Amino acid sequence: MSDSFKNIVAHSKEYGYIFQSSEIYDGLSATYDYGPMGVLLKNNIRDFWWKSMVQLHDNISGIDAAIFMHPKTWQASGHVDAFNDPLIDNKDSKKRYRADVLVEEHIEKIKGKIAKEVKKAAKRFGDDFDEAKFLAEHPRAQRYQKEIEEISAELARCMNDNDLEGLGKLIEDLGIPDPVSGSRNWTEVRQFNLMFSTQLGTVAGKEAKLYLRPETAQGIFVNFLNVANTTRARIPFGIAQTGKAFRNEIIARQFIFRMREFEQMEMQYFVRPGDEMKWYKYWREFRMKWHRALGTPAENLRFHEHESLAHYANAAVDIEFEFPFGFKELEGIHSRTDYDLGRHQEFSGKKLQYFDHELNESYVPYVVETSIGLDRMFLALLTQAYQEDEVPDAGGKASKRLVLKLHPALAPIKCAVLPLVKNKEELTEKATEIFNDLRFAFDCQYDEKDTIGRRYRRQDAIGTPYCITVDFETLEDNQVTIRERDSLEQHRIPISEVESVVRKRTSMTNLLRSLNAK
Ligand code: ATP
Repeated sequence: MSDSFKNIVAHSKEYGYIFQSSEIYDGLSATYDYGPMGVLLKNNIRDFWWKSMVQLHDNISGIDAAIFMHPKTWQASGHVDAFNDPLIDNKDSKKRYRADVLVEEHIEKIKGKIAKEVKKAAKRFGDDFDEAKFLAEHPRAQRYQKEIEEISAELARCMNDNDLEGLGKLIEDLGIPDPVSGSRNWTEVRQFNLMFSTQLGTVAGKEAKLYLRPETAQGIFVNFLNVANTTRARIPFGIAQTGKAFRNEIIARQFIFRMREFEQMEMQYFVRPGDEMKWYKYWREFRMKWHRALGTPAENLRFHEHESLAHYANAAVDIEFEFPFGFKELEGIHSRTDYDLGRHQEFSGKKLQYFDHELNESYVPYVVETSIGLDRMFLALLTQAYQEDEVPDAGGKASKRLVLKLHPALAPIKCAVLPLVKNKEELTEKATEIFNDLRFAFDCQYDEKDTIGRRYRRQDAIGTPYCITVDFETLEDNQVTIRERDSLEQHRIPISEVESVVRKRTSMTNLLRSLNAK
């Protein structure tokens, strides 16, 4: 973990965003608890996703399916047979890795070498530097590029053909060392099913094996008919759901990026066969717009087209975000043909078809899905919001502050009400009165401990967009000072306007409007 990432993890704990699960028992690996601030931010992200998918699209409705599902579900979906990761152990360090991830990290290292060459050349050539030309002509950059292409192609072949031996050989041929110990003493590659199982039933010996769902999507597919019939939806239409999913990840590192219990926000869009590419494009663009609406700079987001597609998919792309440990998948958008409904139709013996009035025919609809991890989204927002900057202190000298520059509509606390000093009853009374009124409208905090400067810092550290300060003048003119977190601007406004000013700047409505969805 880089130092800056370690600071973010420490900050999340200190300010009640994220705690290690069961910490008093030394924690449980790859499981985390959200604290008082964390739960509010998480709820706000989920709310923004839900509103932009369900509320803004007339033809998308939501469900909340159970985590437990009939065991046949997971045979039909392919998870029992194929939800595996290839694992490899290092015989010296006894550490376990995902074999494909070791190769991907090796590829990233080569990409890093290309980036270094580009940086060097850019410095040398200054304004005349043409990156595309350099990459096309420079022999070393070309060699690295060729190496990347060859390794990627072999990795894709091994993964597609389930060629575990080939994957092991690739790791050996590339001389990939254990990232921790540096040893190259590897075991063979084996498959490892990622589903957690438990038992249903009270009679000993007669328990049925159940799985904890590894994705929420299957709850949508099995409810396809229920929703289609009860909403009388016309194709194209979508079903959305958020909820917990569980995966026995081989390596769970990087804080809440890869957890064994996590939350997904998924939407399956059912379309007429042949129309899927149109909707795939729509959802790619819409989902990217969603991320950009939150203020994420374009350079921190990118599309990553899948080079090798699952046998049932005809297009797939990831939206990647630049985490402190590099660009990684944040969300997947997949065109999955009629595979899922087709398989459930086959395994359940029930017709999962749609009668298209316009075409006057029945068919199994095609599906375009968008799937994002709520926890990963949380991490993306937290890492980009966390900033250290300098602000003038009470004496006008520059002093350091830690601030979470979260989008105001997602910030856990919308405003804090602060009496200028604590020992003056008139001030605390007035401030309490304002706070007690504002709490009906927003998540607010009242704080009277410590100097005003320290209280501002505390609110900056949790990302509160507005602080309202009540001073002696307030008692005379019924005005308060409102301080904005990022610009540090301060204005006097009448108490009667505080609610509307804070609402205007923190409401989700404007954020939703910026999406311009139909
Ligand atoms: P990865 O390649 O990182 O394992 P995936 O391709 O298996 O992810 P999907 O099955 O497409 O992921 O799941 C959709 C989304 O769910 C991902 O884009 C990610 O945001 C989230 N997600 C998947 N696995 C985890 C996990 N173990 N912890 C947190 N979020 C996860």
